[in-house]
Amino acid sequence: MPRTKTAHAISDHIKNQLICVVTKKRYLDRKEELSCYSYDAFWEESIPDAVIFPRTADEVSRILKIASRHKIPVTGRGAGTSVCGAPIPLYHGIVLCFSKMDKIIEINTRDRYIIVQPGVINMDIQKALTPFGFFYPPDPGSMATSTIGGNIAQNAGGPRCLKYGVTMDYILGMEVVLATGEIVNFGSKNIKDVTGYKLSSLFCGSEGTLGLVTQAILKVVPMPETIKTLMVSFKDLDDTARAVSDIIGSGILPAAMELMDKFTLNAIEDSFDLGLDREAEGSLLIEIDGVKEACEKEMGKIIKKLTENNAGKIQESSTETDRQRLWTARRSAYGVFAKLAPDIISEDVTVPVSKVPEMIRKIKRITKSYGLRAGVLAHAGDGNMHPMIPANKNDKEEWTRVEKAFDEIFEAAAHLGGTLSGEHGIGLAKTRYLPLVMNQDTINLMTRIKQVIDPDNILNPGKFV
Ligand SMILES: Cc1cc2nc3c(=O)[nH]c(=O)nc-3n(C[C@H](O)[C@H](O)[C@H](O)COP(=O)(O)OP(=O)(O)OC[C@H]3O[C@@H](n4cnc5c(N)ncnc54)[C@H](O)[C@@H]3O)c2cc1C
Repeated sequence: MPRTKTAHAISDHIKNQLICVVTKKRYLDRKEELSCYSYDAFWEESIPDAVIFPRTADEVSRILKIASRHKIPVTGRGAGTSVCGAPIPLYHGIVLCFSKMDKIIEINTRDRYIIVQPGVINMDIQKALTPFGFFYPPDPGSMATSTIGGNIAQNAGGPRCLKYGVTMDYILGMEVVLATGEIVNFGSKNIKDVTGYKLSSLFCGSEGTLGLVTQAILKVVPMPETIKTLMVSFKDLDDTARAVSDIIGSGILPAAMELMDKFTLNAIEDSFDLGLDREAEGSLLIEIDGVKEACEKEMGKIIKKLTENNAGKIQESSTETDRQRLWTARRSAYGVFAKLAPDIISEDVTVPVSKVPEMIRKIKRITKSYGLRAGVLAHAGDGNMHPMIPANKNDKEEWTRVEKAFDEIFEAAAHLGGTLSGEHGIGLAKTRYLPLVMNQDTINLMTRIKQVIDPDNILNPGKFV
């Protein structure tokens, strides 16, 4: 499929057919409107020919039938918060934006599920479940804006995923529209279901390249009785990272264990004045949850491990406001980095937890050797690290250094038995690195799967296969 834009990619005749499905109000093709759907939080852009807002699976199916007949690329879009270029319509065509499919269809705490449309914002699921004493664990940093369709397509994770697992672990069932327009259903409302191939595992994380999710049945869990949160600082980043692998290695599984280095702590403190320790080389935000007595016992064990690793100041949150203050610090990291330069590159590598100290040392050494400013933010308990580099993509010389640094960072992660992404996905950002962690036969198998399910390659073409 050519990437260059062809004139009249969507003829008036095809446009009229599409408008018949969704009405004029939900069909955009004015240049100034289209440009809003040409990018995400990555740094590439590509303008679609049309943006369509479906309201039902039937509309999605009819649009895909038209697109399929005319071989028009179709790229799904939630909130556009992807950091790997996944929703960028590389080959133009149609962007299907799911923001109008934003209904919570059913909450059933007795059977432990919630049924939602793909455009529902992650945070709205959390808010809807709170009065029932339940929650939905996957909590990406973007949870206030990102949609469940995008979360499923990226298999999103977040701080709580250390204990609770990622999006895939919570999908009981899905309704998906294929490139042909066929509407298929995987799974069911049952917590246990091993009927047939586990197709939800294949589609979850496929970045909209195999089908478009129009409904999801998600597992929900009861809220824990107690939550305890602490923030601890260290004079040495190695000690910080070692404390993480020591705690995990001793059999304790916190709900979250987030690491921030000095650069990140100072960037946050500059913006928010939250009382973070500016002198610390590293800090950990640790949260445990469960039954009160068990939490107290676990917290005691955690503090012992922290002390053994030369921990400095430990702040335990005593109130919910205090806990929110600590989380504000962690959750604002991306925003404060964005203030430091015109662009921010937030990458995502994962290594086995025992290798976290070594990987952090490597990230620091590599970025320093290229003369780059860099912070490290990590869901450290599961080995998932976000090296963050503020830079300016219009400065060609600096940008080349950024790219070279990331080449080395990915190589280092692969060398340590790690992988290219723990949660952000592959998109446009990392396709070229796949051979570092997969052999050619495996890449060929993924390509063949794509060819079987989407033979004309109309769904989000140009992404990872
Ligand atoms: C500040 C910030 C913090 C972040 N923190 C995290 C984090 O902690 N954890 C994490 O995992 N990610 C994080 N992300 C990345 C991003 O938010 C997630 O990948 C999120 O899941 C994307 O959701 P979205 O609704 O924005 O999807 P989009 O960005 O719009 O799309 C993402 C992908 O999903 C596809 N898609 C969208 N809707 C559908 C659908 N209905 N059917 C099929 N495919 C579809 C798109 O084609 C695209 O490939 C963060 C991003 C930012 C900017």
